[in-house]
Amino acid sequence: MKYKYEPNVYIVDYEKLKNMFAFDNNGEFETDDPKLIEWIRKNKPFLKPIDEPVEPQETEQKKYKCKYCNYETENKGELLAHYREHKAQKR
Ligand SMILES: [Zn+2]
Repeated sequence: MKYKYEPNVYIVDYEKLKNMFAFDNNGEFETDDPKLIEWIRKNKPFLKPIDEPVEPQETEQKKYKCKYCNYETENKGELLAHYREHKAQKR
């Protein structure tokens, strides 16, 4: 787990008055210690772990979603046709 915060800042356990760890010159700190990760989550919730960058999905298709129901399509023309059906139902 990797955390980012301000550079050279010590994170202190105020109950034990003990320095738990410090961020480096780049404001980064990395740990694989599950106890420490849990401690951070409970005691320092403002420290958010950095997620590994997610590979962009090239296969992802743009979806058009209907505003009125849960209909969705990958074709804008189909969505417009679908909207016409909604209009027709109103009359
Ligand atoms: Zn619809």
